[in-house]
Amino acid sequence: MRHIAIAGGGLSAAQLDRLAAATFRRAGGREHNGALVPMIIRLWKDAKAVQVVPETALRSTPAALARIDGRLRIFVWETVTPDEFRFSVAHELAHAVFLHERMTFSSPDDEECAADSLALRFDHFKREWMRTTLRRAQAVNDSLAARLAAKENRDAA
Ligand SMILES: [Zn+2]
Repeated sequence: MRHIAIAGGGLSAAQLDRLAAATFRRAGGREHNGALVPMIIRLWKDAKAVQVVPETALRSTPAALARIDGRLRIFVWETVTPDEFRFSVAHELAHAVFLHERMTFSSPDDEECAADSLALRFDHFKREWMRTTLRRAQAVNDSLAARLAAKENRDAA
């Protein structure tokens, strides 16, 4: 995937492009060919690399990366839409790349931001869907910021 200017989490657009290209190379391809899950299965040599699970299996987050018996696996709620599924898988793959590259970030927020930016390089997402998703993410951020401010006010009182 080319021509994405979005940078995030302290990583430049060029660094994110290089990470995506290196991941595609390790998976045996030059760039995304429309099949992210088969690519991850090839990359990790694990047929169960990506698994769909009931919401009750993951607490409060629609997707997660976990190490089970020494193997990295991506778990995604069975209730997400196909677009959310693809984005969640790409986002968790980004976390796995950071682990593989032993990359550290100055804050958890920075890592989430970098994971979103790298995820955009792993798959093609519809512009309209991205706008809605980013709006929703912004709303979540706003409500978290409001709760944090309220807590700080309480702590200060
Ligand atoms: Zn994340």
